[in-house]
Amino acid sequence: MSQSLKASGELFRCRLLLPISSPPVEDAAFIADNGILLAVGPWKDLRKDWTGSITDLQERVVLPGLVNPHVHLEYTDMLGELPSQQGFTNWVDQMVQLKRSWEPVQYQRSWLKGLEQQIPCGTTTLADTLSHHALLGCMAKPPRGPRLKILLEWIHTQDDPLPSSSMDRMQQTLTLADHWSDGLAGSSPHAPYTTTPSLWEALGKLPQSPERICSVHLAESVEEISYFQEANGPLFDWLSRAGIQNTWGQGHPIRLLDRSKLIPHGMLAIHANILEARDIQILASHRATMVHCPRSHAFFDHPPFPLHDCLQAGIPVALGTDSLATIKKPAPIHPFHLFHEAKEALKQFPTLRPSTALGMITFQAAKVLGLDKKVGSLAPGMACDWISTPYGGNPEDAAASIIESIPEWDHVVSAGQPFPLEAFE
Ligand SMILES: [Zn+2]
Repeated sequence: MSQSLKASGELFRCRLLLPISSPPVEDAAFIADNGILLAVGPWKDLRKDWTGSITDLQERVVLPGLVNPHVHLEYTDMLGELPSQQGFTNWVDQMVQLKRSWEPVQYQRSWLKGLEQQIPCGTTTLADTLSHHALLGCMAKPPRGPRLKILLEWIHTQDDPLPSSSMDRMQQTLTLADHWSDGLAGSSPHAPYTTTPSLWEALGKLPQSPERICSVHLAESVEEISYFQEANGPLFDWLSRAGIQNTWGQGHPIRLLDRSKLIPHGMLAIHANILEARDIQILASHRATMVHCPRSHAFFDHPPFPLHDCLQAGIPVALGTDSLATIKKPAPIHPFHLFHEAKEALKQFPTLRPSTALGMITFQAAKVLGLDKKVGSLAPGMACDWISTPYGGNPEDAAASIIESIPEWDHVVSAGQPFPLEAFE
């Protein structure tokens, strides 16, 4: 460690550090400078020869800022507006009607409200799936909040090749989204039943990189599978009434995408509840990743998500919140708190270890977004994004204990800059 780094950085000491990418450290310390972590380890090692400033966080546990890999901020004000009991297709129908009734200003207000709620939840990075693209023209940049990755949602049901004017519009929208996303915006063709192969081909022509990613709601519901495999069921009837045809062919949606050779390398599959072993193999062969949204899953009462089979196949799986339109009432105080998802995941998968669940909202979540070299764990070279809460228990119980308690965070720091938490209350 050079003298100059020592002079300009700051050392933090805490009772327990959960780096996520390495084992917990008791009586730990970390050194940060200019928004980047320089060192992480035991206090007794890092204090040696340290001459810079020291902040003692005392009886606290420190962990990386949380990463939400799937959310729709624009639907924040839909909390409690849509029924869960009447099936997936009915929910989609009501969602579409509600969306049509909203004015642009309602989307903006709802989106900003969702953004503002992230910091008290300890979420310092999130991937927002955005359908109301006009929002990007409403503000030069959003207010200070979590690091944003905008995933532009596209719905397209005409199977003709997209004209060059549409391609230009997609490129321009991506440029705007890049401006909000540190140049790493991505695409989100909504779902196979609301998109066509021609749209996926067009999206494949946009600038690509491992960090941009393409996410899609995939194999989420029984109705979606009936639509593609049997050409019947409530979703089939609803789409038929809307004049929307299946342009993919007959079969499981993952096999149809694979047959069309349109699965992008590293695709992020959202939900993916209904998979057979061969579908998991197809996704693994494309280095796909997944987001499971436990509370959204419970809201719809979908068939069990095959978590362990996916993990066994080497597919990275993260947990996301989805939108507040799929949260059961009464909503908790911090409805976007990712620990609600971790807690629900532990309920759904009794053999899941709490430390693994914690990894699914930090390191794995960063990984599925292509951001794991920057956020999601505490290690030298990573962004100085951390959160803390008082903790006096054993290190081995920490993950289970803090998930169970859904803690309030008393520090939320991004790129070395603390957020004034009272400003968000
Ligand atoms: Zn979603």
